[in-house]
Amino acid sequence: MAVTHNLGFPRIGARRELKLAVEAYWREEISRQTLERRGAELRSEHWKLQADAGLDLLPVGDFAWYDGVLDTAMLFGAIPDRFGSTPDLDTAFHMARGRAPGRDDVPPCAMLKWFDTNYHYIVPELSPGQGFRLHADTLLAQVAEARELGYRAKPVLLGPVTFLLLSRYSGEGSALALLEELLPHYGRLLEQLRDAGCEWVQLDEPSLVTELDEEALRAYEQAYHRLQVPGVKLMLTTYFGELGEQLELAMHLPTDGVHVDLVHGSWDTTALMDRLPPYKALSLGVVDGRNVWRTDLERVLDALEPLAARLGERLWVGPSCSLLHSPVRLDQEDGLDPELTSWMAYAVEKVGEVVVIGRALAEGRDAVATALAENRQALESRRHSARTHDAAVRERVAALDAQSGQRQTPYAERARLQQQRLQLPLFPVTTIGSFPQTSAIRKVRGEYRAGRLPDAVYRKLMRDEIADAVRRQEALGMDVLVHGEAERNDMVEYFGEQLSGYAFTRYGWVQSYGSRCVKPPVLYGDVSRPNPMTVDWAVYAQGLTDKPMKGMLTGPVTMLHWSFVRDDLPQREVCLQLALALRDEVLDLERAGLPVIQIDEPALREGLPLRRSAWQSYLDWAAYSFRVASSGVADSTQIHTHMCYSEFNDIMPSIAALDADVITIEATRSGMRLLEAFTGFRYPNAIGPGVYDIHSPRVPGAGEMLELLRKALQVLPAERLWANPDCGLKTREWPEVEQALANLVAAVELLRAEQEGGRLARA
Ligand code: GLN
Ligand code: ZN
Repeated sequence: MAVTHNLGFPRIGARRELKLAVEAYWREEISRQTLERRGAELRSEHWKLQADAGLDLLPVGDFAWYDGVLDTAMLFGAIPDRFGSTPDLDTAFHMARGRAPGRDDVPPCAMLKWFDTNYHYIVPELSPGQGFRLHADTLLAQVAEARELGYRAKPVLLGPVTFLLLSRYSGEGSALALLEELLPHYGRLLEQLRDAGCEWVQLDEPSLVTELDEEALRAYEQAYHRLQVPGVKLMLTTYFGELGEQLELAMHLPTDGVHVDLVHGSWDTTALMDRLPPYKALSLGVVDGRNVWRTDLERVLDALEPLAARLGERLWVGPSCSLLHSPVRLDQEDGLDPELTSWMAYAVEKVGEVVVIGRALAEGRDAVATALAENRQALESRRHSARTHDAAVRERVAALDAQSGQRQTPYAERARLQQQRLQLPLFPVTTIGSFPQTSAIRKVRGEYRAGRLPDAVYRKLMRDEIADAVRRQEALGMDVLVHGEAERNDMVEYFGEQLSGYAFTRYGWVQSYGSRCVKPPVLYGDVSRPNPMTVDWAVYAQGLTDKPMKGMLTGPVTMLHWSFVRDDLPQREVCLQLALALRDEVLDLERAGLPVIQIDEPALREGLPLRRSAWQSYLDWAAYSFRVASSGVADSTQIHTHMCYSEFNDIMPSIAALDADVITIEATRSGMRLLEAFTGFRYPNAIGPGVYDIHSPRVPGAGEMLELLRKALQVLPAERLWANPDCGLKTREWPEVEQALANLVAAVELLRAEQEGGRLARA
């Protein structure tokens, strides 16, 4: 009989209850006690959903107020000095946001993407000689909560090696130097969990699916040989890819079980079975934790039945990874038509699939015959539906060649023509696109969506917002303006709603970072663009000013990665379909007179395969897709792109291969580490490293930004340096934005004067 379990449940709540509560707390509208109570309610609701579905073991410790990696740092007392030393939720908020109720503003911890997902974690900061200190109360309380409710709790922890590998270390080498110091605390925690009645503990070590150096491999040996605590069993948990050359290691480490992701690895389990020690449980991730599609249950059973016969209770079944990356429950979804819905599964339904598989393995397929028949029918309907195929789109993609991804003229000549047209000063100041999404804007959009606002009224109100944004930018002295994106709920959903082949949901929310959730559209069929998507707004905005206006689009690669993408067509193919649809929009914007067009690709890097050996082929088709979207324009049209959330130093050549005339790119939050890339690599086009961290409400001073720009000038030529924030400003408030941008313009004016002075002195 196979054991069924879950690796983690989405914590945001089916109606984003967590987000609402946390944000109310930040605004000091609810007390800490109320917040804590809402958290407990959500946890118990989520356990109940999983238990009612019939799961054997429930995850505990998968809840976090902001982020699980941050909570791990807190759990072991790894709190940087500037945040004090109290391991509580205010400290967590302080570390994540740089501010918390009743505390001074300080620079927050960095934030990075969680492996190849669109979830972001808070990067722990560690230093040599760092002490750790176990603060297990919160976790133990949650274990007690679950057990009091009568559930079999399996605590979920981030494993020590991955935790250290994800941390930023201020000393020489990597944070693995701290492993010796950290392990006893993990050991004590395991003892406490055992004493609290836990039989199994899940230790997440997703870094095992990446390429590891000797030091990391040794760290794994050392860590898991040391973490032998009698009376508690460890499930070494890997996901997001196959173990590859680490298979041997994962199998022989002395843990009682190992979890392997078959969905993002390989369904061929021969190597796994050959190497599985006879004492060890094998947990197989067979339900995709990262998309919204139903699992092919019969295919899973074909693969698992022979294993079940051999392994018996040593076989576990679960989702590929934590369900954090899928929406909560499909049964409340009323945004989709029944046909589409029948092809899909959210977290609750995915748990249900795990249970059906478990039952089929235990009692035979007959015991779940109805569920299997229904599953088969749904998959058949999807396979044969006319909604997934468009011959014209397929032909257009097939006709693409090298020329389709090439600007007419090399950058240097284009830059000259663009400068002639745009007449920009040195260090042009621009923003990334969005301005604060005030509650008034959100209300208007909400009313319009609900059908309570006539078209004309909606357009008028949005135009007023655009006019307001343009006025403010002119007053601030910005050089290249944006319309502000007031009409966009989300940079991907906005386009998904207007492209065919896409559907959008009402409740398909997933956590992106902290309280921020995104609702990726569902890309289920061939993509095309029936009508212009942004031209009206852009033209209106351009008409309000003599300054150049920047048309604003989301790029094909980002559309791909931030959607729930069909799993029945290669990603490259889907991406080229998107690129062609966007190319149509780019050309329409150009025809309408927009001199500058930005195609955002913040997700380019996150699509990187976890193994470096697979990087280049991905980067090649990703860059080609971007160029297919952007290269149809005349030389004098300036193409911008934007990237953020990540470090880009290791893919600079591919970023250059996009051949965008200007890239604005996040840099502040990582302390301008981006600039290190330019000492070794000569970036050929213009670039604006962000100098204003928009993830925090903190307003940087002009001096601070001037300093960053000066730093940039040490490695970038003045003629190709732009000045801009790290990212869009939609999550901020107007007063902070205006102050910060005024400071930015002031900083640039100082820099221009310095530059002028330098020129005169040299002359
Ligand atoms: N143009 C978008 C904005 O400003 C870009 C957002 C992003 O990069 N994530 O909001
Ligand atoms: Zn951005």
